[in-house]
Amino acid sequence: SQLAVAGVQQLVPYVPGKPIEELQRELGLERVIKLASNENPLGPSTKALAAMRKTLSELALYPDGSGFSLKKALAKKYAVDPAQITLGNGSNEILELVARAFLAPGLNAVFSQHAFAVYPIVTQAVGAKSVVAPAVNYGHDLQAIRERVNAETRVVFIANPNNPTGTLLPQSSLEDFIKSLPATCICVLDEAYYEFVQRKGEQDAIAWLGQCPNLVIARTFSKAYGLAGLRIGYCLSSPEMADILNRVRQPFNNNSLALAAAEAALDDSEHLQNTIKNNALGMKQLTEGFKNLGLGWIPSAGNFVSVDLSEPAAPVYAALLRKGVIVRPVANYEMPNHLRVSIGTPEENNLFLQALTECLNNA
Ligand code: PMP
Repeated sequence: SQLAVAGVQQLVPYVPGKPIEELQRELGLERVIKLASNENPLGPSTKALAAMRKTLSELALYPDGSGFSLKKALAKKYAVDPAQITLGNGSNEILELVARAFLAPGLNAVFSQHAFAVYPIVTQAVGAKSVVAPAVNYGHDLQAIRERVNAETRVVFIANPNNPTGTLLPQSSLEDFIKSLPATCICVLDEAYYEFVQRKGEQDAIAWLGQCPNLVIARTFSKAYGLAGLRIGYCLSSPEMADILNRVRQPFNNNSLALAAAEAALDDSEHLQNTIKNNALGMKQLTEGFKNLGLGWIPSAGNFVSVDLSEPAAPVYAALLRKGVIVRPVANYEMPNHLRVSIGTPEENNLFLQALTECLNNA
């Protein structure tokens, strides 16, 4: 409608991965595998499931709107004060809270080409302008981003690792970048894939919070913790920033099941370690498969990898669907020759590689 604000009219809606049931119904296939939304192929922790079962008897009551218990557990884990934590309905809601609190018509947000698709959505939904900096080798170019920050810039979104490229910035250059930003500009460091990153001797971004009152570190329970369906994420920031974000937050934005499951999931380090191990092995399995097929890929620090088919990926995506394998086309990210595939179980990775081989041979 012409009534929508101009920025919204220009937006392309976010297209989620095709649901398994839908494809099963369409094709009458018995087995469909979904490697399209960077979910945890091992599922949630059994501790999280048990905590949810226990919470079922409390569903007539509103959830704890302050998230007291989960914040306490997060604060302990990351050695921060609970007042530095804001909980969101997925980390997507954190991105939205920042946009609602800091962006408006006449202002802008800067982010990279190929960056996560929700940044323009939350920016333009509040009438602000998206400013896109060109990427280098599919990764964020911090200098190009910095050069685009002007007097009207209130937010910079950095995804590290980025989705759908999986590219990772070194912590030292990121720290310099964040500290170079004007006091009028918030930096949202989106670490949705934080748990998968194997850092050796590099500082955690939490260490910069004391000197960076405008830093917002967004993380989630959707990826490594396997709780995507519950919609729960959080951010770490200065208490002043958390206070602002809390003012625009809906009073009960996290449901009781999600709060209980997330807290229990934090307590299951064995499940997290298994998840990280499965991911590292699966990444090796997939990239070796790509190598054998003569395909390139973007080295990824996340739980997914974008493979370069050197030809339009849309027909291969469609052919994979017909075989019951759901992956993610990324043409909307200006990557028409790539397909993004999430790391699955060893068996799922194998089924995907087999299907891909057949699709490429028949193309
Ligand atoms: N940031 C990035 C970079 C992501 O890839 C995703 C999930 N696709 C999110 C944020 C949001 O995830 P959620 O809302 O489930 O926490």
